[in-house]
Amino acid sequence: MSLYEVPITKLKGIGEKKAALFKKLGVESVGDLISYYPRAYDNWADITPVSDVQHGERYVIRARLAAAVSTVRISGGRLMSKATVCDDSGYMNLVFFNNKYIDSMLRYGEEYCFMGKVQRDKYGYQMTSPEFTSPKNGDDITPVYNLTAGLNNRVVMKAVKEALSMLPDPIRDPLPYDILKRYNLCTLSFALHNIHFPENIGKMEKARRRLVFEELLVLNLGMRLMKSHSREQTPITMPVDYTHEFTEKLPFTLTNAQQRAVIDCVNDMKNKRSPMNRLIQGDVGSGKTAVCAAVCYNCVKNGYQAAFMAPTEILAQQHFETFSKMFDGTGIQIELLTGSMTPANKRKARERIEAGESDIVIGTHTLVSESTVFNRLGCAITDEQHRFGVAQRSRLAEKGERPHILVLSATPIPRTLGLIIYGDLDITVIDELPPGRTEVQTLYIKSDKRDRALDFIRKQVDEGRQAYIVCPLVEEGDDELQSANDYAAELMLGAFRDYPVGILHGKMKPKDKEKVMTQFSNNEISILVSTTVVEVGVDVRNATVMMIENAERFGLSTLHQLRGRVGRGEYKSYCILVSDHTGDNTEQRLSTMCRTNNGFEIADMDLKLRGPGDFFGNRQHGLPQLAIADFSDTQTLAQSQEAAEYLLQLSPDLSIDETRALRAEVYRLFHTTGEALN
Ligand code: ADP
Ligand code: MG
Repeated sequence: MSLYEVPITKLKGIGEKKAALFKKLGVESVGDLISYYPRAYDNWADITPVSDVQHGERYVIRARLAAAVSTVRISGGRLMSKATVCDDSGYMNLVFFNNKYIDSMLRYGEEYCFMGKVQRDKYGYQMTSPEFTSPKNGDDITPVYNLTAGLNNRVVMKAVKEALSMLPDPIRDPLPYDILKRYNLCTLSFALHNIHFPENIGKMEKARRRLVFEELLVLNLGMRLMKSHSREQTPITMPVDYTHEFTEKLPFTLTNAQQRAVIDCVNDMKNKRSPMNRLIQGDVGSGKTAVCAAVCYNCVKNGYQAAFMAPTEILAQQHFETFSKMFDGTGIQIELLTGSMTPANKRKARERIEAGESDIVIGTHTLVSESTVFNRLGCAITDEQHRFGVAQRSRLAEKGERPHILVLSATPIPRTLGLIIYGDLDITVIDELPPGRTEVQTLYIKSDKRDRALDFIRKQVDEGRQAYIVCPLVEEGDDELQSANDYAAELMLGAFRDYPVGILHGKMKPKDKEKVMTQFSNNEISILVSTTVVEVGVDVRNATVMMIENAERFGLSTLHQLRGRVGRGEYKSYCILVSDHTGDNTEQRLSTMCRTNNGFEIADMDLKLRGPGDFFGNRQHGLPQLAIADFSDTQTLAQSQEAAEYLLQLSPDLSIDETRALRAEVYRLFHTTGEALN
């Protein structure tokens, strides 16, 4: 029987009450507990002389009691015990609260190791409530677990120790022997014991590397199995490269990164056995639209139609206008097809598309509705791909006979993560912004400076510019609409009494949203107050201020997207982050925003601070929760990818003896019995 089927109440000292606390940590079985890896380690062997400590850091000191513990009663009836300890280098004070037994535990003249944070006050250096142990009693390195109220580290340690003793000996190792050997990995048994109770840091690191490797391997295998639908051949080839002819007509020169992206696509579509399947990832404003236009030009000149799907009407409209200008005089017919068009206009557009009179069709998801029939679709492009479900994207592809597929994303996910999530897509990164952009200046303020920020916005508007304001957080149970309206009303009656203010919130009908956005585009509205994220990709070059209330509630990547709404034209632009929140790394995160405008750097930081779940809903992208791996170890990641490829070559469904245990791990990680992966 698997230890994942043994409830932790089978362990000594774990009753229903403790089990309920463990459940909060996601630990229900003995197996869960064994894979509940420490968050950190305390190293009792890493001893610092008392004279070397500094304020605010955590240390282990080894010191003797220079006097007996003295205990007094302080306000509220609490006990406070003080002790002075010393080593050869100096003295330090210790303070304990409400510990009746402390004077019998710490004896005058005896030596102990103390661990804790050191603080300096007028009496010198001091540790408050340090952990302590006899110098030779206990492990040098002890695990530190994530805890929940009512459950302390000692209890978790003890339970883990017992759980480890229940492991069968030997454990069946899911990693085949040749993988262990090739990547110099320790056995599972060694890894499990040493990740919890390592004798030294070296052994812990060896254990950790093995467990990270295994988890990333299992993740890789799972993603690959899910996507292993073989790439079918396509009859569509585009042998001639017309890029040069197109770029000559552009009012600007493509950046090197844009050129590389176009070349990648043209090569994909040239003469390959399988259709293009490419993701272009580029920060906001990096010029993905021009790359698409070049791809569309190639497609049309080679005799096919191209489709370009955008997530919103306003974006489709914008792309249509951009394309109409770019393709002016080429004879290429651009068609717009969106849901808000009149039935008669839609019908006419569809007739032209079906007859092959339209060359490039730009639209919303209306493009994939059944009544849209293409004549000879060669290339299907989806903008801001994360806004569409996987189903909508593939339905666009089904409008042709295995057309080339291109998806665009401005969500800069770290490359390491991209390799897993987009395992089946080729990726081109546009890592360069067009010349002449001025960086958006980002300010992080507390709400007591809000009035000054509003003054600043008024000045900008007086100069003819526009501003976005993202509303404060809605409390749970609060009516989003009500609080957005209240906030907007306050601004309309107060700071922006004499200015046109518009409001955009999640409960509005798409049509009404479009209307407000269009008014903003036309500068009929100066200040746009919105509850939800302002439509991605919208290009209002005249907007120069983005003010975000409760900035702490957004992931850095979302903040970066929001900031990308400004700084798109020739005017100096500003992003103002308002937050009074402390903790949860808020200050670190918001300062990162002030420090850099680089989307990839921000994405990496976001990944480190908040984990992959925030890039995409875990469920949406099928990324399971990881126990130990964190994608930051790129070398192990690369090795696990190589190993995944190798194993799938040995056995495409991992059904051979050597890989069967690994396959079970894949199913477990993805919480499936297997159907979803077949
Ligand atoms: P995104 O990648 O966010 O979709 P866009 O395609 O909307 O970016 O481009 C942003 C702006 O940059 C547009 O106004 C576009 O005309 C301009 N642009 C794109 N490429 C270049 C270039 N190579 N040189 C100058 N401006 C460019
Ligand atoms: Mg765009």
